[in-house]
Amino acid sequence: MARYIDHLASIDVRLVCIDFDQTLVDVHTEGKWTDTADKLAKRVRPRLKELIEDGLKRDFKLAIVTQSSQTDLIRKVLKKCVKQDTSKIIIRGQDKTWDKIEGVARGGKQQHIASVMKELEGNRHLALEPRQVLLIDDDSYNTGVAMCFGMRALTFENEECLGKILKLVKEQASAD
Ligand SMILES: [Mg+2]
Repeated sequence: MARYIDHLASIDVRLVCIDFDQTLVDVHTEGKWTDTADKLAKRVRPRLKELIEDGLKRDFKLAIVTQSSQTDLIRKVLKKCVKQDTSKIIIRGQDKTWDKIEGVARGGKQQHIASVMKELEGNRHLALEPRQVLLIDDDSYNTGVAMCFGMRALTFENEECLGKILKLVKEQASAD
């Protein structure tokens, strides 16, 4: 996965946002997972886990953007499977812990991503442009909306599709 991170760095992506259900994990929890975090951690896709670890090593900003309200569970899952300190990974879910952002589209994951960007700007003094953001999500509606707003996006189908990261170019957003 390191070469994917190298490629993302070369096109100036600084923030990678990853959907949870059917993307980071190979199951749809519907926000109602009743089993243990250990069991859910076993469903994490190994290559996405590696991408997160390589991203953290290179000081990429990482976020999980999800419609799930089980953000505590997601935090535990990340802690169980990612080698590094996962506290730096921002999680935005439907847990009512963050405010909607005025002036940002309600569709797709735009509110989640805008909230992540706001946190990075406010707490970590990192102001990012949309083209510096990559969304990986199995829902093509979400990736389509992200691209409409100038972000890069990859519709997740399976782990092989991560190879498409190498095809992401600076012009992706403007070409559509
Ligand atoms: Mg999903």
